[in-house]
Amino acid sequence: MKKYLMALDQGTTSSRCIIFDRNGNIVAKAAREFTQYFPKAGWVEHDACEIWESQLATAKEALRQADISAADIAGLGITNQRETTVVWEKDTGKPICPAIVWQCRRTEALCEKLCQTGKDVIIREKTGLAPDPYFSATKLRWILQNVPKAQERAERGELLFGTVDTWLIYKLTGGRVHATDPSNAARTMLFNIHTLTWDAELLELFDIPRAMLPRVLPTVGVFGETDAEIFGTPITIAAAAGDQQAALFGQCCFDAGDIKNTYGTGGFMLMNTGNTPVTSSNGLLTTIGWQHNGKTTYVLEGSVFICGAAIQWLRDGLGLISTSSESEAIAAEVTDSGGVYFVPAFVGLGTPYWNAAARGTVCGITRGTTRAHLVRATLDAMAFQTVDVLDAMRQDTGLFIPLLRVDGGACANNLLMQTQSDLAALPIARSACIETTAWGVATMAGLATNLYNSIEDLRTLLPAAKIFTPHMREEVRTAHLEKWHRAVSASSAFSS
Ligand code: ADP
Repeated sequence: MKKYLMALDQGTTSSRCIIFDRNGNIVAKAAREFTQYFPKAGWVEHDACEIWESQLATAKEALRQADISAADIAGLGITNQRETTVVWEKDTGKPICPAIVWQCRRTEALCEKLCQTGKDVIIREKTGLAPDPYFSATKLRWILQNVPKAQERAERGELLFGTVDTWLIYKLTGGRVHATDPSNAARTMLFNIHTLTWDAELLELFDIPRAMLPRVLPTVGVFGETDAEIFGTPITIAAAAGDQQAALFGQCCFDAGDIKNTYGTGGFMLMNTGNTPVTSSNGLLTTIGWQHNGKTTYVLEGSVFICGAAIQWLRDGLGLISTSSESEAIAAEVTDSGGVYFVPAFVGLGTPYWNAAARGTVCGITRGTTRAHLVRATLDAMAFQTVDVLDAMRQDTGLFIPLLRVDGGACANNLLMQTQSDLAALPIARSACIETTAWGVATMAGLATNLYNSIEDLRTLLPAAKIFTPHMREEVRTAHLEKWHRAVSASSAFSS
């Protein structure tokens, strides 16, 4: 009997493969880093072929490690870095240029023009997104405009577009399937999240030939079979989801009001809003979580650009600490930040401020300020930024939030988690499963291949989380938040 699930977790800096058994135990895990290209200031590219080769190598290695064959895999799920844009030739499967990575800012001018000409209104209405180089549409426009003959070739139907999920599905199926899922399609800025179709008006606005777009299939469902030559026996590709959405699923956030925050390089908070999209008045994006059993689950998403990266800066930029985890012991040397507030707006501020010009600011330094105060203020900043996003979610939905589920590298920091609970006045549940993204898409593949009967089966598999409960007095909390917001104003006042 087929009893394992394979997750391909294609991230920004590495491709990973994890094989789980039905109960969520990891039976094999392989990872390969791949090359990051920075051809100009603000530009970021990947080689799509290297992405594919590294991903394939991890899948083969994981099968070897687990000592099982492809025939033992019930289903394969793909979760991926979102928005990254690949264009390839339909005939040969060869990319026509480097993949443009989500971080790449090369289309900033075009996005500004869209806002100046008032196009941001229809974009927001139809896609739930605000025009930004982050999303795929302007990246695809750039390729069609700048790669010789790309526009005419695309119009003749010779070129295909895809985000990384689509590219991997195409390669895995030996070029037979050109498809994506709504959680990835929703990040292209070409997909209407209400009608659940590619939007004719947006395709016209960005001059994108429809022939190059993938079919949109349910997130949880069969996309195709891997080409028999790849693993010896075909494996069913049974799920595809963007990384943040997969993590939300992996944390069992199946009901409206369920919410998770990932503390990685950046911070990403997603809230399940049920089967209707919620429009934000507080700088959140409205997007799609997943499509399952004919139903679409929508989410609100908030992004903090610099989260764990602020700790990296203490380590690599200032040399103040030698490892990220050391931040906990050093910050614990003091009882609080001694009145220091640090806004790590290195690349501007995301949700809810959306101020691209703000810059990093440290307020409240005195002669008594020590390294420990600054480290503590950095952990505080990670928590304060999360509180701002949480408040935006509360205001937009009016939903009662009973609990915040957390994952990501920096959530290992107990002091940060306690501070988060105190400043948010909310219990924090830290997942015992550190691979929530891979687990999320693996369980989706398990649902699509009937290894599980329903999502109810999954709730019982989630190991017990560690809970942090708030202890801070309300007036202390309010005073801290008031000072934090003054520091945010200072960082905006001193803008680039
Ligand atoms: P990503 O997936 O974005 O690369 P991870 O989820 O691996 O990130 O988390 C790594 C980030 O978390 C780094 O920015 C690192 O500085 C930070 N980090 C890791 N461990 C700790 C810790 N114990 N305390 C604070 N920050 C940490």
